[in-house]
Amino acid sequence: MYCGRFAPSPTGALHIGSLTCALASFLDARAVGGRWLVRIEDLDPPREKPGAAADILRTLEQHGLLWDGEVVYQSRRLPLYEDALARLAADGHAFRCALSRTQLEAFGSNHPGRIASDSHGTGDGPFAWRLDVPDAAIDFVDRVQARQSFNLAREGGPFVIRRRDGLFAYQLAVVVDDADQGVTDVVRGCDLLDSTPRQLLLQQRLGLPQPRYAHIPVLAGDDGQKLSKQDLAAPVTADRRMANLRLALRALGQVATGDTPEELLAAATAAWDIARVPRQPSIPLASLA
Ligand code: GLU
Repeated sequence: MYCGRFAPSPTGALHIGSLTCALASFLDARAVGGRWLVRIEDLDPPREKPGAAADILRTLEQHGLLWDGEVVYQSRRLPLYEDALARLAADGHAFRCALSRTQLEAFGSNHPGRIASDSHGTGDGPFAWRLDVPDAAIDFVDRVQARQSFNLAREGGPFVIRRRDGLFAYQLAVVVDDADQGVTDVVRGCDLLDSTPRQLLLQQRLGLPQPRYAHIPVLAGDDGQKLSKQDLAAPVTADRRMANLRLALRALGQVATGDTPEELLAAATAAWDIARVPRQPSIPLASLA
């Protein structure tokens, strides 16, 4: 059975770009009678804003985006990530890297790999865990952006799965949780397109099923940059919920009418057609006005 999810980091209030992501994954799930979950990705306390998680959940409810089951908080699931890391390390897929930021900079944009990390020793200092990557193409077909191909050895090299400060990295946690929650379909913003080959590799190394992926265009502000919670993009508010939902539907290329959020969402669910979502990485917000 289809299971989708919206997985916001609680770094600030929802803005129109993140509401559009939530709406896309909601509609894709509901259109086939599937489940839709919400997971709060609160693994990075320094980036989080007090009250943001509760605020995001309230905003979803106010816009009629009602999820199934209990909200999952990543901060309460650390043993699952510990376990996955231990398996990767035991199977020889992950290695300790004590290279400092300055040492890494000297190697340019690609991590030099396990051997260079080893030759610098791990000593008693802090170290990160990284996943080895093959020097080969990882291909997948995105439901919106079509065929994709990445060679991780040439695009960053071995990547962090646990940081030097001890925090689990997004890539590891998201893969563990998507599998644990039975997620079959990931619908999210194009800013995460290049995370997908890393997540596919992790799923392979951990022997987990691979969901289907759909990356929708991110909404960009006047500066051409993705709207971001941390940059204090204007929060969406309940008094403008119809306007917010209509704008998000326009961004997704969908047509629906209704006088209440419930009517609008029911019509949008019935008419949902992912083939109408623009096949481009970003859309200027100003072009939707
Ligand atoms: N937590 C991530 C974010 O807010 C999204 C994770 C995902 O959808 O895979 O950007």
